[in-house]
Amino acid sequence: MSAPISSPSPAPLKILISGAGIGGSALAFWLSHLGHSVTILERHPVLRTSGLQLDLRGPGIAVLDRMGLADAFRAKSAPEQGFRVVDKTGRQRASFLVNKTGKGLQGFTTEWEIMRGDFCTMLCEAAMGKGGKYVFNSSVESFKDKRGKDRTGSDGGGGVEVRLADGKTETYDLLVGADGIGSNTRKMMLGEPLSGDDTGFRPLNGQYIGYVTIPKPLKSDANSDPSSQYMATMYMIPGGRGIMMRRHSPAQVQAYLFCRSDSERLRNASLTRDVRTQKEALRDIFKGAGWESDEIVAALMQENDFYLERMGMVKLPSGGWSSKGGSVVLLGDAAHCPSANTGMGTTSALVGAYVLAGEIGKHCPAHPGEGTKGGLEMALKEYERKYRPFVEEVQKGIEEDKGMRKYLMPQSAFGIEVMNRLMGLASFLNLNVLGRFVLREDIKWELPEYKGLMGVKESK
Ligand SMILES: Cc1cc2nc3c(=O)[nH]c(=O)nc-3n(C[C@H](O)[C@H](O)[C@H](O)COP(=O)(O)OP(=O)(O)OC[C@H]3O[C@@H](n4cnc5c(N)ncnc54)[C@H](O)[C@@H]3O)c2cc1C
Repeated sequence: MSAPISSPSPAPLKILISGAGIGGSALAFWLSHLGHSVTILERHPVLRTSGLQLDLRGPGIAVLDRMGLADAFRAKSAPEQGFRVVDKTGRQRASFLVNKTGKGLQGFTTEWEIMRGDFCTMLCEAAMGKGGKYVFNSSVESFKDKRGKDRTGSDGGGGVEVRLADGKTETYDLLVGADGIGSNTRKMMLGEPLSGDDTGFRPLNGQYIGYVTIPKPLKSDANSDPSSQYMATMYMIPGGRGIMMRRHSPAQVQAYLFCRSDSERLRNASLTRDVRTQKEALRDIFKGAGWESDEIVAALMQENDFYLERMGMVKLPSGGWSSKGGSVVLLGDAAHCPSANTGMGTTSALVGAYVLAGEIGKHCPAHPGEGTKGGLEMALKEYERKYRPFVEEVQKGIEEDKGMRKYLMPQSAFGIEVMNRLMGLASFLNLNVLGRFVLREDIKWELPEYKGLMGVKESK
């Protein structure tokens, strides 16, 4: 057990990150690059590489580039060609090709698509390459804020004593909760719920998604164009349901089954960890729904990598991303999950990691001559002050179901026909309706520049 650094002079901080997902590994990369001592705890026995397709947008692409990982990402990117809409007979009603010009907004499919496992692995390897240390099968059970003088001599930021699930305790300068939407760090940091049982998670009225990967080899007959089989394909079903299929390999496709439902059975299933119960609840909602639904439902019941998500956002009050005194802070979905339907969860975690590391580098230099030594409390305040405006724009109107989003999942066959025709018109006129009105990429916010985080790409 070692004591936290309390000297006012520049010195490496000892930092614990809980959660080796996208945000956790990206932060470990930057903080290790700055010279801090970083340990990442992951609850799973190995890196958790499950999950389907993720994408990056706007500032997320810029941060990836600053990390020097753009080429590695491209080498692993999912070869999706665009997005199309079909009706119950499988007839194509609209189609939008991916924007490969490097200019303007991305559509539903971006130029920067990747399987979650590939991105997690890439970030973990990059962080380890900088010196980040991973510990699996471990998690934080509790922590105690050690108030006192911080390294700049001001009150607070005196470190945090962390107790792990195996009973060991250790003191760190900073604990980062990068443990996803259901963050245990967030729950512990709040101590008392915000009100009632409010832990910052805001479910989106009855929205669920089931994710599964299923075997489906590419069709190789003379009439099938292989690239058309790499189009994300969406099918809307009366009753506020939909299925999307995406291909990432010649052998497999990903199926996303989403719905708005007030079904108690589905709600209860989502609260259990019983995958069979979850699958059965979803099967009964989607069976006989047209297009390829029966084939997908049959595969769903057999495949192992299924998971069900109750869609929601995380929203914390102003100042709520870190503890008073600056020894615990939240990152990514743990702090501000925007929900899968903004298309901005991965971007938000990656950019948040960059801003948090940048502010720590600025206010808590690891070496003499770097930064302004404002201390951790200042760094965490600045992280939220600079980054919250971006996150608020991403989350705007999602909970209230405003704008075009309100009409995206029609209840009736007539509503779906109207939507299919409108999408067909937009695709004929080459209008990027999804990029402009539904996804949250077009946000006026400037990515800060941090001296200590520049030049990584060039030094590779
Ligand atoms: C298994 C999984 C599959 C996903 N699949 C998709 C998908 O298909 N499409 C999509 O858009 N988004 C998916 N997501 C969410 C997506 O990764 C995030 O929304 C986004 O990338 C933000 O990343 P994050 O780092 O904040 O959180 P996440 O990527 O969710 O990472 C959180 C990490 O923390 C770990 N963790 C959780 N609790 C603890 C604990 N108590 N102690 C230690 N570690 C803990 C988790 O195992 C995980 O590795 C998935 C997330 C997970 C965990």
